[in-house]
Amino acid sequence: GLIKKDADFSQKLPGERLPVTQSLEVAILGLGDWGQQVILRSLENTPFSFIKQFHLIAGENYESVFTQFSKAPKMQVYRAGEYEAVLKNTSISAVIISTPCQTHYELAKTALFAGKHVFVEKTFVLEETHAAELISLAQKKGLTLMVGYEFMYDDGFSETRDLIKDFAFGEITEVELYLFNMKKGALSNNEKYGTSIVNHHVTHLLSILQTLLGVQRMDKIDLLEAESEYVRLRLRYGGIETTLVAAVDLPNRQNYRTAIIRGTEKTLEIAFDGPHPVFTLKKTSNAALISAMDEEYPRPFQQTFTTPSVQREFEHFFDCMTQNRRTLSGGQTALHLVKMTDQIEKSYQEKMRVAQEQFADEAAQTRQDILQIQKTFLLEKSQDAGFSEINTSEISTSEVNTLKRNETQALKGVETTLAVVNYLSNKPYTSADEIARHLNLNLDALKTIYQIMQRVPGVQKIFSRGDNYDYFKVVERFFEQNHYEVTFFVGLSCPYKCSFCRMTMASQEKKEGYLGQGEIDGRSLRFSIKKPDLLKYHEVVKVLDGLEDMRDLGRPVTVKISGGLEPLSDPERVAFILEAAKKRGFPVRIYSNGILANTPDKREIVLSCDDFRISLNALNEDYFQDIYRLGTTKSKKISYANIETTLRELVAERTRLASKTRIGINYVVVKGNIYEMWLMVALCRNIGLDYVNFNTDYCDDFDDKAYIAIDQQIKKIKTMQGRGDFLSLKIEFGGALLKNNVFAKQPQGEFDPGSMAKLKVFVDPAGEVTPVHEGTYPFRTSEGKTEQNPYVLGKLSGETNLKGLLKEDHALSPIEFRYLAPFELILGLELMREEKDEACGIKATDSPYRRSDAITTSIS
Ligand code: SF4
Repeated sequence: GLIKKDADFSQKLPGERLPVTQSLEVAILGLGDWGQQVILRSLENTPFSFIKQFHLIAGENYESVFTQFSKAPKMQVYRAGEYEAVLKNTSISAVIISTPCQTHYELAKTALFAGKHVFVEKTFVLEETHAAELISLAQKKGLTLMVGYEFMYDDGFSETRDLIKDFAFGEITEVELYLFNMKKGALSNNEKYGTSIVNHHVTHLLSILQTLLGVQRMDKIDLLEAESEYVRLRLRYGGIETTLVAAVDLPNRQNYRTAIIRGTEKTLEIAFDGPHPVFTLKKTSNAALISAMDEEYPRPFQQTFTTPSVQREFEHFFDCMTQNRRTLSGGQTALHLVKMTDQIEKSYQEKMRVAQEQFADEAAQTRQDILQIQKTFLLEKSQDAGFSEINTSEISTSEVNTLKRNETQALKGVETTLAVVNYLSNKPYTSADEIARHLNLNLDALKTIYQIMQRVPGVQKIFSRGDNYDYFKVVERFFEQNHYEVTFFVGLSCPYKCSFCRMTMASQEKKEGYLGQGEIDGRSLRFSIKKPDLLKYHEVVKVLDGLEDMRDLGRPVTVKISGGLEPLSDPERVAFILEAAKKRGFPVRIYSNGILANTPDKREIVLSCDDFRISLNALNEDYFQDIYRLGTTKSKKISYANIETTLRELVAERTRLASKTRIGINYVVVKGNIYEMWLMVALCRNIGLDYVNFNTDYCDDFDDKAYIAIDQQIKKIKTMQGRGDFLSLKIEFGGALLKNNVFAKQPQGEFDPGSMAKLKVFVDPAGEVTPVHEGTYPFRTSEGKTEQNPYVLGKLSGETNLKGLLKEDHALSPIEFRYLAPFELILGLELMREEKDEACGIKATDSPYRRSDAITTSIS
């Protein structure tokens, strides 16, 4: 749906204004925060010097308003009860109403009947009939009735509307509006005003939409999420796909207000949470437009709009009132907004009801399951002294039989179990003794609770819904299923020069020694390592033999080929490892930047692995050059156009070769590419890839606004996925993208990297083995000198094989958590948790994250 050329844009703030010459008296009704700090403060300024007298009508805060203003010039203070008497004063020509919105209808009606012009803050009124009645009353009496939708009077939004109208962005295809407000005070919207977030916040978003796109038809409302202080919906406005999201009570105590207007050619991002909106104009990334390279990215759209919107709003009100003009946000515009708000409010209430019911059902089921398993346990183990005391503080009964009879106590046990589940969902790395201390339980009771947790499906659901879902997934793979992973680092050089890459840094520093330019096997390589003793092929074979033994002992093994540098810079080696691993039946994954998979022979190599994962964070040429080509000139070969072509050719070749290789993208989310996450999904689907993974890099630090923006992108993608937009494309989001994930809330500390060798190792091109990514080459050196790498277990050689290395105890230097990749951090934390639990008698098999079949047969 695209905006039509004939869209109704007639509702526009008139450019020229006639100054108000006569002096006026104005009544202000309602002097809460907004009334005092915004309205009154604004009207006291120079542009409104024609106001010769303010009549302030205060509510419950009369005393404080009186103390503050009664002595001030031009001010007179009244009590609420005096409203009608004040209206009798014929020198007052206008009434400004800033009270809770349920009172607007009556108060505005009274003022109109008394012959006053009326300004009502949004939300106008709660019922459409009331809106219609007031509008027609004002019309009949020839009075101005205007509603305070401040964003409609923002110069930046008005300017944007003109640009939209002039097709400066091409045709508009999509609009996203976000309004996240901090909560002020302890009360919710509902408690404070008796109205919902729809009436308070979504109505603002609708007014912005109306400002940007004119008065249009709204339909296809789809309420996606509804909570008491959060709402997310999609709709069509004038045929344009629109997302509206509003929230209050942010955990981060920060406003986040953003508008994204996406046209076929340009995309405008407006951040309007500061004193003045910031506009950023970018070229719309889209497969068809990517080849154009003529513009800089991002190109700021620098406009300074210094007049506050509230001032504009009141200027307009007094203009309309004195010149007898139609207001921009009165009449049909206001009625339209009330209608739209009301329509959304109805869907919102319905969604809330359904969601609450469903949540209650699920929660009840989980409680029921816990209760039953708890009882079964107690019956089975009643002889066991360890279980006679379930929980000394919560369940004080010492005898199981008493507990069995005593339903109330049993229910308390359910609550205790859920408390443990929630605790672990937030901090999954917490050891048993810490939880026991924190929740005041004894360890035996906690052990039983862990066993109950293993058997209740609802517990897994709670885990999988929290921000740490990836923790539980990683634990399942590496601890429960006992996977082992060996990653061969293969690359000798890299055509990219990523700004965040150590190799790029090293090459820029031009240091002699471990890193730099060099020569290997007679080949001259840029950014290569100076290591003449590359791992010999027969040593690779020995590693794989060792893995075969491991696999035969029941451990699933995965072989990865990746690189400190680009693995396909050494295709023979990739081919060798791949073939040898496949011969032994190991699944092989290749991680690459893909740019070298541009010849038929290299494509054939990668199309014989199980999974070919390409890192790509850019969706257009400019950004591509920006992030991957630090300090180099633009290159046609190393370009976005090229990687996209390579991907398409890979997919075509896969079909020709009837290969089963999965091909996917790993997109590292950084601040500069958040809003394009969903476009990457669209591109992958368009090319015919199998998956796209979104992850973060441990170099990037997100602020609160970035976390909100990412969260909204994830939700957006999931919604589109739910509608079937992306067919069977598999989409995964790394937990580290979420604000409450262990990675973002990284606990401080360090751990022994040697223990991680139980789960995975890296083998570098020279055969050095290390359990952590930080220990792989190119290892950072100080002052250009080669240092002993503190995380290396040893070097593979004729005498030392991987099996031997893993058997030995290695005293490696402890590594700080902050140097671990997100996935390694999880492994490290879980290793520590298990170790601590074991020390207090809780075996790995009793871990709360293992699963056990639910006891169904023995439940009576
Ligand atoms: S693709 Fe990898 S190896 Fe190449 S420059 Fe970027 S981060 Fe470094």
